[in-house]
Amino acid sequence: MDLFEYQARDLFEKHGVPVLAGAVATTADEAAAAAERIGGKVVVKAQVKVGGRGKAGGVKLAESVEDAREKAGAILGMDIKGHIVGKVMIAQAAPIDSEFYLAILLDRSNRTFLIMASVAGGMDIEAVAHETPEKLIKVPVNTIEGLSKAQALKIIQDAAFPADIEEKVAEVLVLLWGVFVAEDATLVEVNPLVKTTDGRVIALDGKVTLDDNADFRHPDHEALVDHSAANALEEEAKAKNLNYVKLDGEVGVIGNGAGLVMSTLDVVAYAGEKFGGVKPANFLDIGGGASAQVMADGLSIILSDKDVKSVFVNVFGGITSCDAVANGIVQALSMLGDKANKPIVVRLDGNNVIEGRRILTEAAHPLVEQLDTMDGAAARAAELAAK
Ligand code: GDP
Ligand code: MN
Repeated sequence: MDLFEYQARDLFEKHGVPVLAGAVATTADEAAAAAERIGGKVVVKAQVKVGGRGKAGGVKLAESVEDAREKAGAILGMDIKGHIVGKVMIAQAAPIDSEFYLAILLDRSNRTFLIMASVAGGMDIEAVAHETPEKLIKVPVNTIEGLSKAQALKIIQDAAFPADIEEKVAEVLVLLWGVFVAEDATLVEVNPLVKTTDGRVIALDGKVTLDDNADFRHPDHEALVDHSAANALEEEAKAKNLNYVKLDGEVGVIGNGAGLVMSTLDVVAYAGEKFGGVKPANFLDIGGGASAQVMADGLSIILSDKDVKSVFVNVFGGITSCDAVANGIVQALSMLGDKANKPIVVRLDGNNVIEGRRILTEAAHPLVEQLDTMDGAAARAAELAAK
């Protein structure tokens, strides 16, 4: 789960990482009240789970309470890269001298944790990594031993942070490692970490991703879940124990097995190029033993996604054979009734495929079309979505 900036700020505060006063607001009036409480100049910051808010106009300095009200009013409701702003954070403004970058992340390819540090903070770190890689220091952390103050200091010195703040930054890095471990995060990123004109070191913008697999030992993380409408489909899928991820295309995808679904996404995206760039609308793995109920749950979620124009059901019969899956689809469609309202392309293969295809052919549901190959079915689904 990715956190909003204000949630990351609160976690930082809980673990002693230096942050400035901040409060979240959902209306301009709330924003004004928060600005009044905080006092002085404040920064109004769009709370969206996407980078580059600053450049998109989602971070604005406000000189007064009235100014904060006005800027919050302008930022609330803004569309930032497809994310509608529903909340702003009102943060005490910092007098910035210079901006830096710190991150701790799970490095999957090297099976370890990685610390990244750079004096080129405040900007897009991908660009720094690409254009001036020498300015981005990367150091693996030993999971068992953790991060000592001495190691942290060495990293900060190697990254060429100014000598007058290296001690303070090293302390912050150790505290961030504390956040990373204690909260079971897979990413803790601060950009920018700033030096203020009066010599303080402060985490001004934080990005935290928590490891959902560790939820069982963090009952308090439940409170961080975003229950807003934008997330409704993923929430509903989670409640039904489905592995669902919303994507931004038009072809709904259901398959059995994560590997098959992943390759289905690729095949749909490839086929979609011929139809004006149609793309998959989601990832949905209904798993090995998909019952009619699971198929109905999956179809129901995908069909209620307003972005979906066609659905591609791609199943390889294994222990659950194709006839069971075909019966599942037929029952699911009758359970859904009028809710089934978009063309559905089905490709069955594997165990008992002949019987499975026969069942679907006999059911002759007006929305269902069968194709024999994955490529052919993907192309048909993309074509239907483009219509
Ligand atoms: P992002 O664009 O989504 O990463 O948003 P950030 O929170 O990192 O803010 C972007 C930029 O706005 C920072 O790099 C700063 O240059 C500036 N900024 C953010 N907060 C403050 C502040 O309190 N004071 C000043 N002067 N600038 C700020
Ligand atoms: Mn930032």
